[in-house]
Amino acid sequence: MDAVPPEPTVTAAPLRVAVLGAGTVGLEVVRSLLDAPDRLAAAADGRPFELAGVAVRDVDRAVARGLPEELITDAPAHLVASPDTDVIVELMGGDEPARTLIAAALSAGKSVVTANKHVIAHHGAAFEAAARGSRAALRFEAAVAGGIPILGPLAGDLAANRVTRVRGIVNGTTNYILTAMAEGSGTYEAVLREAQELGYAEADPSGDVEGRDAINKLVILARLAFDAWLDPDLVADRPARLHGPGGPGITGVTADELAGAAAVGLTIRLLAVTERAPGGAPTASVVPTAVPLDSPLGRTSGVRNRVEIRAEPLGEVGLDGPGAGGPATSSAVLGDLVAVARGLGSTWGGRPSAGEIRTSGAEADADRPRRWFALLPGARAGKVLASVAEALEQVAAGVAVRTSPLAPSELAERIVAAAPETLDATLYPIDD
Ligand code: NAP
Repeated sequence: MDAVPPEPTVTAAPLRVAVLGAGTVGLEVVRSLLDAPDRLAAAADGRPFELAGVAVRDVDRAVARGLPEELITDAPAHLVASPDTDVIVELMGGDEPARTLIAAALSAGKSVVTANKHVIAHHGAAFEAAARGSRAALRFEAAVAGGIPILGPLAGDLAANRVTRVRGIVNGTTNYILTAMAEGSGTYEAVLREAQELGYAEADPSGDVEGRDAINKLVILARLAFDAWLDPDLVADRPARLHGPGGPGITGVTADELAGAAAVGLTIRLLAVTERAPGGAPTASVVPTAVPLDSPLGRTSGVRNRVEIRAEPLGEVGLDGPGAGGPATSSAVLGDLVAVARGLGSTWGGRPSAGEIRTSGAEADADRPRRWFALLPGARAGKVLASVAEALEQVAAGVAVRTSPLAPSELAERIVAAAPETLDATLYPIDD
């Protein structure tokens, strides 16, 4: 009989972890490090973790929340520079000081784990160069779709594929608002207020409702799918209206439009989409988009997220789940910490280096024929409208139309011809 190999003995030095930020996500991460060290060490091939310090702004409040006083500091830069820390977990959010702290850690050869999509989307190319230069790991799974593992699969299990498109619902706040409006809970303003009361929207909701949070996540998805860091400022963020661009993100979507969409078998979701473009930069957009009511994206309701990857030879795969919240997001942060302890490198794994691309490639896509949804307020269906419609319903607020495939220029021309000059309407692309 073969001898049973002995259990590996734990000889590795502990991985000394500094956590910057102890808010919604940080507090969950700190609690797991304090309360479940054995589970984490077992996942990390036996390497133990040691919580070396926690940085916050308000030390007294952190102590009052039960964090050990001797670990708390209001000086995150000291934790980054300290010889007693090996890995920095950045969970403060925002641009500065997160950007400087991450850059300093990577330059010093310390690995970094972060959930901060803003800082990764805006400074990812510089961080990547620093991490590759110092051989430190930079991991950011939690920055996209919270608890849903999406970057790891893109870089790892799907690495042998040629990804052609990534699309998804990556912002729970806007999805909650659109779902509630579609269910008849009220106007955009009323539902937004309710979302704020329930804690699903921040006091300043502009980053979510104007689409910037979803754009940051899309830039990160494009890095993993297409090996390019896109410029977040160049990602298309507004649907077209008959007489010019609409408002950013979901700010222009009305309850009447959602009711009209339902009448022709559709609903509206804030869809983040990046696609491989022939010979150029990937296209990228975050605009409210009509999807079939009876589709996986149409059925993704409330604060849930869903990301779909189209690739060759795979075909299509979709992942959905909790896209935010302390516990779900801490799952991704802790998974990244375990990956650092196992020496698995950065989130991009073995993918080639990515440089910065200063165009979104949107021009290449601008006049592609596709289906559209519009609610023409107060209008009556006429012959011209009927000629472009696949489905047409007279609803209380006007005419809801789902068109056959048309280039945007042709669509605007034909609907304008059919509508009184004073009428304006948003033209929502349909994604089947
Ligand atoms: P949060 O609740 O606002 O917590 C932020 C923490 O960082 C607080 O403990 C705050 O300290 C600390 N902090 C902020 N600036 C600081 C500074 N200059 N020096 C020291 N400490 C500082 O934020 P969160 O919701 O946990 O989000 C953290 C990150 O995770 C963000 O990048 C966010 O985008 C990302 N994320 C969050 C979620 C989610 O569901 N919340 C999901 C995915 C990703 P004080 O409390 O003392 O002010």
